[in-house]
Amino acid sequence: MREYTIEELKNVVRPELGDSVPLELFRILRIIGMREILGESSGAALYMIGKKVGNMIGASDLEAFKDEIIKLRIGKPEVEVIDGDHLIVKLYECITCAGFTYTGEMFCDLESGIIAGLMEKVYNKKARSTQVKSWSVGYNYCEFNILLY
Ligand SMILES: [Zn+2]
Repeated sequence: MREYTIEELKNVVRPELGDSVPLELFRILRIIGMREILGESSGAALYMIGKKVGNMIGASDLEAFKDEIIKLRIGKPEVEVIDGDHLIVKLYECITCAGFTYTGEMFCDLESGIIAGLMEKVYNKKARSTQVKSWSVGYNYCEFNILLY
């Protein structure tokens, strides 16, 4: 199976429809489609996909990290550096969960992975991201704990 590069995906020829799609479509694919096909393993699989995406996009520093997250419209990030190995990323207007009603479960695994993948490039270390807050558990933003190792 051939592996495609980000450059190959960027060439969009849609003179009338343009390069944007409704967020509703993304959420159908993401929250209904992928979870249904991948089942219980969807969280881990989406996290791994996200990590690969974050690694491919890359970021040189925390400003570039924020720029990429905003440019891809994943959300509006706020980064708090706790110490050398620990950061907290708050994500406002999260692509997956912003506006979601309370369900009691968190499922922003793709976003969590993308954040970890980007942070690996920023710090040139391994990164693990754990989601700790979400609209779906009663907050009005998403939050991720990042551990660098
Ligand atoms: Zn979210």
